[in-house]
Amino acid sequence: MARQGLRGKVVAVTGGARGIGLEIARALAAEGAQVSIGDIDEKLAQHAARPLGAHAAKLDVRDRASFAAFLDATRKVLGPVDVLVNNAGIMPMGAFLDEPLERSDAQIDINFRGVIHGMQLALPEMLKRGSGHIVNIASLAGRFGIPGAVVYTGTKFAVVGLTEAADAEYRGRGVHFTAVMSSKVRTELASGTEQAGKGIPAVDPEDVAAAVVQALKRPQLFVAVPGFLKPAAAVFQLAPEWLVRLGRRAIGDNRILSKLDHDGRRDYERRLDALAKPAAKPAPKRKVRA
Ligand code: NAD
Repeated sequence: MARQGLRGKVVAVTGGARGIGLEIARALAAEGAQVSIGDIDEKLAQHAARPLGAHAAKLDVRDRASFAAFLDATRKVLGPVDVLVNNAGIMPMGAFLDEPLERSDAQIDINFRGVIHGMQLALPEMLKRGSGHIVNIASLAGRFGIPGAVVYTGTKFAVVGLTEAADAEYRGRGVHFTAVMSSKVRTELASGTEQAGKGIPAVDPEDVAAAVVQALKRPQLFVAVPGFLKPAAAVFQLAPEWLVRLGRRAIGDNRILSKLDHDGRRDYERRLDALAKPAAKPAPKRKVRA
């Protein structure tokens, strides 16, 4: 992919109706890629796709059948999938012990299981062709544990590990893997964190999109946004535990628990409540009496 560029490549983006996913879709369309947007919010996905000349379809990443149908529709309309961007994700915030089970489950199902579904569905044809690229939108929370987002942190560590292990397992088969680890990104997901996230480097969704385009052109396993946080993460991992604890205390790493602006997060919380329900299952067929 690196030498050929992105013109004409078929790229499927999950959670592409808004936020980071939408900017990734825009940036890839601007590079001449044929983009397919899948999102649980189908109306918004259609609206987002129209000006880009992109394909859009309903997708619930929690449901393997829904993911398979999305990829099938993408193949039918645009051709074999060259790139899959697993971006859909949610981030509830609050104390670990106060988190309702449905919210923990929703994070595991969307942030982690959804990525497994996407990879297991898209990889076989990529391996057969000997080319392709899977981009998983993880987070710097996949390297640094965040108090106030304990389960979220767990899912993002899982995505980073999943990407690294798959890259090693399929080495030399022509398929590239990338885990993108962003700091705070200015989207609705991060709303209400103005005080809680003070001092944490913040970027725009366009910055993440530019990093994804770059990683597709010059494949890299780990990408940090902003880029200087990649060496910082490496230093953090090498630092002795006492120093990490001291540093964490000095920056007040648990501010989400005390300084989260719940009013500012209301709209996002409403969206989360709707999502924290199990994926809709088709109604069982009724037996028709003869
Ligand atoms: P967002 O809420 O703005 O957008 C997420 C999109 O995913 C929405 O359009 C939503 O409808 C869709 N979605 C949610 N559940 C879905 C499902 N089950 N199936 C299909 N689509 C679904 O969030 P964002 O900030 O753009 O986040 C995108 C990704 O970036 C997430 O994986 C998030 O964890 C990661 N990330 C975000 C930040 C940040 O600060 N915003 C930082 C690092 C990483």
